[in-house]
Amino acid sequence: MKTLLIKNLAKRYPIGKDRFFTALGPINLSFDSTGIVAINGKSGSGKSTLINLIARIDTPTEGEIYLYGRPYKSFNKRTNTTFFNQDIGIVFQNYNLIDEETVLYNVELPSLIKGDSAKKSKEKAIKSLKMVGIKEELFNLKASKLSGGEKQRVSIARAIVNDPKILLCDEPTGALDSDNTTNVMELIKKISENTLVIMVSHNLQITKQYSDRIIEIANGQIVKDEVINKKEDSIRFSKKQMKRSSSWINRIASSNYKRRIKRNVFSSVALTIVLSMLYLVVGFINNKDKSIKEACYKQLDFGSGSVSKETSTGGSGMLSLTKSSRPDYENLKSNSKISEKYEICINFSAILPQNIKILYDDEIVDDLLFTPIYSFDRQHIDRSLIVDGTLPDEAAIDEVIINQSAANLIRKEIGKNPLNEYLTIEHETETTYVTNTEEYVNDIFRLNKKIKISAIVEEINYLPTPKIYYSYLAIEEYCKDYILVNLSTYNNEDITWYDRVMNADNNAIISSYSYLLFLKNFNDRITPFDNSIFSDGLVFTSQSMVLTDSLFNFLSVAEYGVILFLVIAFVGALLILSIMSFTSFSEDHKKSAILSSIGASSDQIEEIYLQESMVNGFLSILLSVCISFGLMKLANILIYKYLDIKELIVIPFLEFLGIKFLFPLLIVLVVMLVVSFSTLIPISFSKRKSIKGELQSL
Ligand code: ADP
Ligand code: MG
Repeated sequence: MKTLLIKNLAKRYPIGKDRFFTALGPINLSFDSTGIVAINGKSGSGKSTLINLIARIDTPTEGEIYLYGRPYKSFNKRTNTTFFNQDIGIVFQNYNLIDEETVLYNVELPSLIKGDSAKKSKEKAIKSLKMVGIKEELFNLKASKLSGGEKQRVSIARAIVNDPKILLCDEPTGALDSDNTTNVMELIKKISENTLVIMVSHNLQITKQYSDRIIEIANGQIVKDEVINKKEDSIRFSKKQMKRSSSWINRIASSNYKRRIKRNVFSSVALTIVLSMLYLVVGFINNKDKSIKEACYKQLDFGSGSVSKETSTGGSGMLSLTKSSRPDYENLKSNSKISEKYEICINFSAILPQNIKILYDDEIVDDLLFTPIYSFDRQHIDRSLIVDGTLPDEAAIDEVIINQSAANLIRKEIGKNPLNEYLTIEHETETTYVTNTEEYVNDIFRLNKKIKISAIVEEINYLPTPKIYYSYLAIEEYCKDYILVNLSTYNNEDITWYDRVMNADNNAIISSYSYLLFLKNFNDRITPFDNSIFSDGLVFTSQSMVLTDSLFNFLSVAEYGVILFLVIAFVGALLILSIMSFTSFSEDHKKSAILSSIGASSDQIEEIYLQESMVNGFLSILLSVCISFGLMKLANILIYKYLDIKELIVIPFLEFLGIKFLFPLLIVLVVMLVVSFSTLIPISFSKRKSIKGELQSL
């Protein structure tokens, strides 16, 4: 059995349709196990093509090469090149060392790739370097620092470190001066004593001096095959099949990572941003319903709603018209379901709106709402909400309570704690009445009072806008005593504001078309959707309810928007990562070609880039957990402040869908998928680029 056997081997390149240029062959050759075989021929005759085919960095168009009788086809390039590459070492004219690695590591690499331990690889590399005459001082120098002659000797050391059966040399002395040429040739001669050396050289003198056999190629054909020294053929069979090791992959990956630190940091940041957003969106969807429900639970604790009657005035479908009017007071009172739950009051909102003039020390305090609660009675207010101060008497008219945001607002204006301070209310509403003699009568409702702030409470209504809560009961009493001056003079009877509003027509503006309802007991808090007790055209509305409804709508629209945004961001990040790793892979093409020529499988080379991306991926996971946690806290504080919704976003790091640590697990999975996808897909597109070209470029 021959060491190397070449059968009908040809390499053709397509030139136009159905036409080929034959760079080599078809040729037949066989090689013994030792000696230098020189391949001679003019430039372009096909020498490198032959070497590349034997080195398997190029594939033939026809024919087959056999190593110890085993066809090349049977070596799996993707997973198992170790067996193959232990047997063949290659030396190039342009050395093809990995410039940024040390001399020693360059030589260790084929041994590490083959699967030797770090210790053994180092021993082998040192032995090999000593054999080619590289001094120990140079071992830890970067390969780029060496002279040409030194580089070539290092590259020979690397080629023979695994004790190959065949050493391929393509113009090994092409770039060297004559002294170095002699050194290198002496070295190769020595190696050839128990190794088959196939060497391409231009230098005829060298060829003659050192070769044991000279093959001449012209136009891809063998024109001469001359044996000078007949060697004894002793086949040395290849033994072992080595395990894979990945320590060298880590090292190459980490040196790549450092070299591209800026780009990698950028990739990590891009992924971090997207991941943080993902967490926040998941946190939002996760806790949204629960937290809004809790916020709504506070609805109508103490606040008021109004009940009006809506009747259809004809039309149908989309064009039906409804008319609002005030419901019948007696009917409303006799509806036990409603009267059990609510205090039913006449509506003074037309003469006492929420926006009235409130002053402190003659200065107007803006943005304060004058808001009714039924009374300061124990039943109507939850005392656990008092932050400071004491509740006034049940129907006190000269005392009020304020919520915390009102307290903050007033504190800002007056520079001290507003508790027990006095506010002045100056309010006037002018009302015109049509009388039965068609005369117009004007009357003025006036509420000018000094009121004491007796307590500060947590927000007891929905949305923490600054509010003053007064007792509606007290206002009712006040209006019962407050005579309409002009109208009563006109009628010669003492009509009070209470009588006037109470007896107003269904559709008189002064009736405001409704009655006010206050929850009788704060323990009876209801959700705004419990409308079942209102029937027969009775429609219950409250400002809180309207706000909540619009909030629900807003949040469900926001949910879609946010998810769409996230998808776009994800695609963007995927593209960024893909472009990054594609660029990295492309600019390292030569390095990959070198690794492949010294035995790395394409799987292992992909793993280098996968590792680089994985580091980015896991860095992003860590960073994004911290960032999103901070953002979540901040967002929740702001949302609570402005929307009164507690914990709208809760990222389920600890428990998701009832399963512990499911979310972090999913994140790791997603990141690994995204990273693998964005690394391997673009790499698989760039595979077609030949490693042959990379290795031969000078
Ligand atoms: P040399 O003997 O100088 O090493 P080569 O083996 O490199 O010659 O090339 C043999 C021939 O094949 C040359 O004519 C070269 O132009 C041609 N050739 C090499 N690579 C390609 C390619 N990728 N496409 C087309 N022709 C090629
Ligand atoms: Mg060549």
